[in-house]
Amino acid sequence: MKPLVAIVGRPNVGKSTFFNRMIGERIAIVEDMPGTTRDRLYGDTDWNGREFTLIDTGGLELGGGIPVGQVGLSGQPGDIMNHVTSQVQLAIEEADVIIFMVDAQAGITAADEEVADLLRRSKKSVILAANKADNAKRRLDAVEFYALGLGEPIDISSIQGVGTGDLLDLIVEAL
Ligand code: GDP
Ligand code: MG
Repeated sequence: MKPLVAIVGRPNVGKSTFFNRMIGERIAIVEDMPGTTRDRLYGDTDWNGREFTLIDTGGLELGGGIPVGQVGLSGQPGDIMNHVTSQVQLAIEEADVIIFMVDAQAGITAADEEVADLLRRSKKSVILAANKADNAKRRLDAVEFYALGLGEPIDISSIQGVGTGDLLDLIVEAL
């Protein structure tokens, strides 16, 4: 089996955009994989000759049935935040490397802090990716994500495809 790299983070930060850019049409049929749920997409890819399986988590949020719940301290509805944290816990159990994606347009949110706490305690190999860093101002602002205590944020723009090579270099180094 190839090493597993999971992308986690709160909804709307751009996890699926990055995943789709990497995987394109090569998405695995998740129902055939034991112990997986339909809201995780798997796809095989490679970088610098290293093969790995990328996992996109949290697809349920865009599945049409957005769960309605009370907005909690994280600023996300409770059901969504439970979903995010259970995806993070699953990633901690199964992944070799975790990409924690945050949104450089929105800045740090309480939901990001909650996810960061779980990841710091896990002692897993985590790469912090500040997505939507589409311009110089956002790249500068992205230094604020240092405060999450997970090391240096890597600026990327999944839409533009900028910075993704540096992120991939770090992923394969961590495998
Ligand atoms: P997910 O919920 O984390 O999977 O996020 P999505 O990949 O569905 O993206 C949420 C929204 O952010 C979509 O409207 C994307 O087009 C947008 N988005 C994703 N990556 C970028 C980026 O690099 N820059 C900008 N400006 N928007 C992005
Ligand atoms: Mg998604």
